[in-house]
Amino acid sequence: MESKNAWEKYSDKELKKVDKFAEEYREFLSECKTERECVVRFRELAEKQGYVDLQDIIKENKKVKAGDKIYAVNKKKGIILFHIGEKPLEKGMNILGAHIDSPRIDLKQIPLYEDNGLALFDTHYYGGIKKYQWVTTPLALHGVVALRDGSVVELIIGEKEDEPVVGISDLLIHLAAEQMEKKANKVIEGEALDILVGSRPLAGTKEDKEDKDEKESEGKDGKAAKEKVKANILHILKEKYGIEEEDFISAEIEAVPAGKARNYGIDESMIIGYGHDDRVCAYPSYAALAETKKLRKTGVCILVDKEEIGSVGATGMHSKFFENTVAEIMDRMGDYSELKLRRALYNSKMLSSDVTSAFDPNYASVSEKKNSAYFGHGMVLMKYTGSRGKSGSNDASAEFIAELRGMMDENDVSYQTSELGKVDQGGGGTIAYILANYGMDVIDCGIAVQNMHAPYEVISKADLYETKCGYKVFLENA
Ligand code: MN
Ligand code: MN
Repeated sequence: MESKNAWEKYSDKELKKVDKFAEEYREFLSECKTERECVVRFRELAEKQGYVDLQDIIKENKKVKAGDKIYAVNKKKGIILFHIGEKPLEKGMNILGAHIDSPRIDLKQIPLYEDNGLALFDTHYYGGIKKYQWVTTPLALHGVVALRDGSVVELIIGEKEDEPVVGISDLLIHLAAEQMEKKANKVIEGEALDILVGSRPLAGTKEDKEDKDEKESEGKDGKAAKEKVKANILHILKEKYGIEEEDFISAEIEAVPAGKARNYGIDESMIIGYGHDDRVCAYPSYAALAETKKLRKTGVCILVDKEEIGSVGATGMHSKFFENTVAEIMDRMGDYSELKLRRALYNSKMLSSDVTSAFDPNYASVSEKKNSAYFGHGMVLMKYTGSRGKSGSNDASAEFIAELRGMMDENDVSYQTSELGKVDQGGGGTIAYILANYGMDVIDCGIAVQNMHAPYEVISKADLYETKCGYKVFLENA
């Protein structure tokens, strides 16, 4: 039994739609590289579509009714969108869920230091990465610095053509005899992921300098006088962004691959870029909900943070934010009770959308060919994830999968089934099991990716398009 290649079914008209959606997504991926940036963008897009902030609805004591479009933002790092359906919420919602955090290199709380005339940022990586992939590649810094006065400075360095980039060095091959003997997880160690940000001492007039040297040498250890490269970086940060060294304590700055996502392949059938995991599911989830006109059941799109480090914390899927938001909406509909909330959650259905591994001829040995996902074969349905005997997996029910098969076939959506690699080869987790705790039907679903968690990941445009279509079919028919 084989799934078909979606490219073969498209008419010229459909091909145009595939390309148009891929272009929209490529632009989004190029611009939105952190969870915060994703939330800002989705909020803007949603407001244009007539979505209203739940906080405003509560403040103005407004009612919510069928047809209303609402969003709720969680601490600038997560957003949930609701398109209210005709049926009472108690009857359940159709939910699309994806995460908007991606593996990256975060700055430490005290990051900046100088070593032999070089200024560097010390880092602590976020999520599961092969550390050796992140060296010798141009990086950009994205993030926020929260100041004591309550203001928040937003900062992006390294995305515009005329802006500098930063990066992490690797050892030259000529001196790497010892390094090359090491195991891959030791070749580049976590503490060697420091980012080079400067090499030029603070400039000034000769008189300035003499005056300054005198003052600085009065410092505790005389160190300050020598650290002129670091001083210069601090000087630039103060000039451009108004931030001081101690402000890094309350900052969140992420180093991510610099530059735009690109079309990939001579046939331009794919996209290479940073952060497909899991923005390649988040974007079509939003787009599918935005396209729905009238819904029987309430359609929901959950875009959440912290999946890459276990869905923990106030902005991860484990937080009560989703549940609380549903309660608020039921209250605004004049239909809240604890029991009705429980029923709404229990009666819901969900496509928990995340990326899976795409079959790769270079590494065919880790995949079992019948149960692998292939580029171009459409949306992927994964009954289970997990590892070592499905451990940690949400094992979707046969009945729920049958229902999905039926609606996808009826609407000519290309889909395939897969599992993440051979049994005993490894595995992974998603947010699926967390929502399944409410008793709702949840299945892992999503898009196949090559180079997952590398600085540059690859997806197929046909898969992106089919998945968006599949999400819409689910919202309208489940
Ligand atoms: Mn993911
Ligand atoms: Mn991931």
